[in-house]
Amino acid sequence: MKTGKLAKTYRVDSGKYFRMKDFDPTDTGHWRSKEHAEQALLESIARTAELQDRLYAQDRWSLLLIFQAMDAAGKDGAIKHVMSGVNPQGCQVYSFKQPSSQELQHDFLWRTTLCLPERGHIGIFNRSYYEEVLVVRVHPELLKNERIPDPLVTKHVWEERFEDIRSFEKHIARSGTLIRKFFLHVSRKEQKKRFLARLEEPEKNWKFSAADIRERNCWDDYQEAYEDLIRNTATPDAPWYVVPADNKWFTRLVLSSVIVDTLEGLKLCYPKIDAGKRKELEAAQRLLLNE
Ligand code: ATP
Ligand code: MG
Repeated sequence: MKTGKLAKTYRVDSGKYFRMKDFDPTDTGHWRSKEHAEQALLESIARTAELQDRLYAQDRWSLLLIFQAMDAAGKDGAIKHVMSGVNPQGCQVYSFKQPSSQELQHDFLWRTTLCLPERGHIGIFNRSYYEEVLVVRVHPELLKNERIPDPLVTKHVWEERFEDIRSFEKHIARSGTLIRKFFLHVSRKEQKKRFLARLEEPEKNWKFSAADIRERNCWDDYQEAYEDLIRNTATPDAPWYVVPADNKWFTRLVLSSVIVDTLEGLKLCYPKIDAGKRKELEAAQRLLLNE
C-alpha cells in the first residue's frame, strides 16, 4: 500500500486554523495493524538510505529534523527505527536537555546553532530550541536562570521568541537547510500506560525519572503551549507534523514517509562529471588495468 498521502495528512504549514483537538493521537489512517504496515515501513527506510546517499554525494542541501513530544511519546525509539538504514557518517543526532551554565551565558538559539547539519548531512534534534517556548513557558522560573536583562523580559516574551524562531528558520532555509518538525502526539492515557510499563518492567526502569510525573501534572499547560507554538511557527518552509503517537508502528510509518517525501522533493542526483574529470577517471582506469 502507498504511503505518499501520509506525508500530507498530518502536515501543518500554516497555523491560522490549527487546533490540537482536530488531531487524534490514536489515528492510524487506513492502516490496520503493525503487520499491515511492516512492508511499507521497510521499503520507506530503504528508500531513505538511497536518498541520503545522494544528499551526501551532492553536498548542497541539508535536512534538519526536529522532534518534540511529551515524555514517553516514543521519540528515541522512532529516531532509532526510522534512521536505521542511513550512513552514520552523514547523520548526527543531538539531544537537548537542561542547558549547562555555559549555554546559559548565551542567547537561546546559540547551543542549537552549533549543532546545525552541514551541507549534505541530516541533523536530528531530539528536543530543541522549542523547549524555550515549552518547558520555560510552563515553568517561567526557568527564564530567570537565563539572566536576560530585566527590561528586555516583558509580557511579549513568548511572541518575541516565536518571531525569533520564525526568522531563524527562514534564514537557515534560505541557506539550503530543509526543516521538518515533528510533534509526536501521544494521549494522556497512553502516557500513563507507558509510564506504568517503565515502572513494572525491570529492563525499562532506567527510562523513568521522577520529573516525568511532575511534568505530567502540567499536561494541560503543555498542550496549550504546544498548540500556541504550532500556530505561531508552522510555515511552508518549516512545517510541523502532528504525528499520532499512541501506536508506535504508525508514528514510525508517518515519520519515514515524511522524510522520503521531503528528500524526493529535492530531485537529488549524483554530481555530474565534466569532460576534464572524465579524462582523469579514464587515465586512472588505464593505469590500474596496465599494472
Ligand atoms: P527520555 O526519553 O530519555 O526521558 P528526554 O528528552 O525526556 O528523554 P530527559 O533527560 O528526561 O530527556 O529530559 C530532558 C529535560 O530537559 C526535559 O524535561 C526538557 O524539558 C528539559 N529541557 C530541554 N531544553 C531545555 C531548556 N532550554 N530549558 C530548560 N529545560 C530544558
Ligand atoms: Mg524524560
